[in-house]
Amino acid sequence: MPYNSSIGRCTLHPDPHHRSQDQEIRDIVLKRKQLQLNTHQLAQIVAHASSDPNAEVCGLMGGTWQGDLAFPVCIASIANTAPEVALQFAMDFRQQAETMSKFYASGLALVGIYHSHPVGPPYPSATDIAEQAYPEALHIILAPLHQIDCPPTAAIFAGYAITAWTITNRVAKPATIRVSRPKR
Ligand SMILES: [Zn+2]
Repeated sequence: MPYNSSIGRCTLHPDPHHRSQDQEIRDIVLKRKQLQLNTHQLAQIVAHASSDPNAEVCGLMGGTWQGDLAFPVCIASIANTAPEVALQFAMDFRQQAETMSKFYASGLALVGIYHSHPVGPPYPSATDIAEQAYPEALHIILAPLHQIDCPPTAAIFAGYAITAWTITNRVAKPATIRVSRPKR
């Protein structure tokens, strides 16, 4: 049948409101938040995690957002005051408050919250998802690389897998970590 035949011609017009699945997948990837960490910063958080390999260590990242890309400027470790530090973390309230005040006084936002999983994979646990209180910040998890279950978005550094997540409305979505060299 010739293309210009009026018989059986497709009369469907593209719906301007219709979004193909491909488009939606592209948008999800494009909208995915990103974390820019230089190798010096990666070394800092990995050193913190490996300094206490049987405990969950935790800390805060103050920095700036450029669109969906977070640039940490200041990374501060915070004491874990949880009763069972091997299984959970609870930031020392006073240290956390002081650190966040310093960030805000310097014009920095809380762009990241990091903690380690000494024995679990670098995915947010059910507790991490249920108890997160800062949906605007990225949640960074470090785990020793020998954990076999590791998402493709992980950055690998000095024997650790490092992942970043957005956690909103009890849903965790992976963020991309971009690794750069430190500025001299
Ligand atoms: Zn966790």
